[in-house]
Amino acid sequence: MPQWNCGCENCRDARGGTGAVRPRTQETVAVSADGASWFLLNVSPEIRAQIESFPPLTPRAPRHSPIAGLILTNGDLDHCLGLLSLRESHPLTVYATESVRTGFTKDNVLYRTLERFEGQVTWQALAVNPGRAQPLGDSGLTVTAIATPGKLPLHLETTSTPSPGDNIGLVIRDTRTGGRLAYFSGVAGPAPAIARALADADALFFDGTFWSSDELIAAGLGTRRAEDMAHWPVGGAEGSAAFLASQRGRKILIHINNTNPILRETSAERQALEAAGIEVAADGLELSL
Ligand SMILES: [Zn+2]
Repeated sequence: MPQWNCGCENCRDARGGTGAVRPRTQETVAVSADGASWFLLNVSPEIRAQIESFPPLTPRAPRHSPIAGLILTNGDLDHCLGLLSLRESHPLTVYATESVRTGFTKDNVLYRTLERFEGQVTWQALAVNPGRAQPLGDSGLTVTAIATPGKLPLHLETTSTPSPGDNIGLVIRDTRTGGRLAYFSGVAGPAPAIARALADADALFFDGTFWSSDELIAAGLGTRRAEDMAHWPVGGAEGSAAFLASQRGRKILIHINNTNPILRETSAERQALEAAGIEVAADGLELSL
């Protein structure tokens, strides 16, 4: 936010620096049990700047990274493209479902930049149906993958067969404190598995892409409805906010499209969220669970 080729009112205000709409990078979350080793939940195209903006993610030796692993929740480029930016001959451990791994690596000539030496990328398979708590190395964190309503990334829609691993949510648990974070950045609609995963969460990050189904159409910026892009609208009687309001713990919207009125600090939609106890994420947000 703003989007490079967008001159909508939100994007104009974000560029104008008035404070009415704050600029934001595309979402990536970093989690750690000890503050020493870190795991990234998705890797946005802006990952280099995001690492530099948060000193715990920067090197402590001439060649070093505290980033112990990366977890991908789907094949969308706003979640995966940053992986190619981490290409400076550094060993990476990537956790993903079989479907997401195949979608990123198969027939992708650019992936060769991450295959320059044996062991440059170690893939760890995330299980779904059923998901189970899997350790993130010896970090003291576990991850559980939850198959979530969604779809294949746009660039694979015509060449791949949909599967339950195409889009997942995560529950990250600190085995020492018992703290749980739920992370669902892409959600096409309600599902019992999501409700079960959120029930025990101390905090949750949730898909806040669009406020309404016809947001792009009404703004004259597109022809597809939110549901066509596998995003559950936030607003309205059937919206995700009505569902989230009844959940315990902190509830924070992420992955917010530049057209969404909740990005405007004083909008009626933003006030409605605040009244429901739902926050809107901004760069630099930190939580301790
Ligand atoms: Zn815009």
